[in-house]
Amino acid sequence: MTAKIIDGTALAQRLRTEFAARAQALAVQGHRPGLTVVIAGDNPASQVYVRNKIKACAEAAFDSRHVAFAQDVSTATLLAEVARLNADPKVHGILVQLPLPPQVDAAAVTAAIAPHKDVDGFLAVNLGALVTGHAEFVPCTPAGVMEMLRSEGIPIEGRHAVVIGRSNIVGKPMALLLLQAGATVTICHSKTVDLPALTRQADILVAAVGRANFVTADMVKPGACVIDVGINRLTEGEKAGKLAGDVDFAAVREVAGWITPVPGGVGPMTIAMLLANTLKATLKAIQKADPT
Ligand code: NAD
Repeated sequence: MTAKIIDGTALAQRLRTEFAARAQALAVQGHRPGLTVVIAGDNPASQVYVRNKIKACAEAAFDSRHVAFAQDVSTATLLAEVARLNADPKVHGILVQLPLPPQVDAAAVTAAIAPHKDVDGFLAVNLGALVTGHAEFVPCTPAGVMEMLRSEGIPIEGRHAVVIGRSNIVGKPMALLLLQAGATVTICHSKTVDLPALTRQADILVAAVGRANFVTADMVKPGACVIDVGINRLTEGEKAGKLAGDVDFAAVREVAGWITPVPGGVGPMTIAMLLANTLKATLKAIQKADPT
C-alpha cells in the first residue's frame, strides 16, 4: 500500500482564503483582526516562525505586528509589554514566541497574557477548559491536526489513537482532542516501555517527539493514518540543513493509509489555526463591546 499524502499546505491555503474573506467582511463593519507576536533574542528558527506567522496574517488582511526585543531583555520589560498589549483594544491576539532568552522567566511572561487574547491556547485556564471540553482557544498544532483528520474523513470515533509525546503544547492537547472526538487514546513518552508494540496498535498515530526518522515502518499498522508533527533540522548527510519530521517518510508511506509530509504537513496548518484563533478572539471582542 502507498499512503495518501495529506497536503497541509493546500488545506491551510483553503482555510486562509476563507479567513481572509471573513476579515474582509469585518473590515466593512470597521473591525480588523489584530495579532501581535512578541519575540526576544536571535534564535534563527524563532525568527523564521515569526516571519511566517506575520506574513500569513498580513495576507489575510489581519493587522499583524511583531515587537522584537534584544537577547538581554529582562522579565520586567516583557511583562510590561504584555500588559500594554493586554490593554490595547486593537490587539485581539498575543503570542509570545518561545523559547525566550534564558534569563527571562518565560512561564511568568506567557502567564501574563490575558486569557481572551491567548490565541496560542497555552494558558493554564485555556488548557484546563480543554480538559472539560469547553476550550475557547485550542493550541494551534493539535487543532490543525484535527482539521486534517476531518478534511480527509478519517474515522476517529472508536479507533485507537496513539500520541507519541506529552508536551503541554502538542502531545497532551492532541490526546485530549482525540479523546473528545471519541478515540481510545494512548499517550506514549520517553519512559514508555516497548513503544513499537503500542504504536503498532494505532489506527491514528501522531508523532510529536522532535527526533528525525524516529517512527519506522515496522512501528506502523498497515493502513494507519500517520501524522508527523516533528520539525527537525538535519545536520548530517546529503540532506544536511533540510527539514525532516519524526517519521521515516519514505518507508512509512509504503505501509500507512495516510501520511503527512514535512515540510508541507502539520506546519502550515498550525499557522492557519493561529489565524482561526485570532479571528475567534476578534469576534468575541466585538461581541463583548456590543452584545446586541
Ligand atoms: P517536547 O520536547 O516538549 O516533547 C517531546 C516529547 O517526546 C516528550 O513528551 C518526550 O516524552 C517524548 N519523547 C522523547 N523521547 C522519546 C522516546 N524515546 N520515546 C517516546 N517518546 C519520547 O517537544 P514538543 O514541543 O512537543 O514538539 C515535538 C516536535 O514537534 C518537535 O520536533 C517540534 O519542533 C515539533 N513541533 C511542530 C509544530 C508544527 O507546527 N508542526 C509545532 C510545535 C512543535
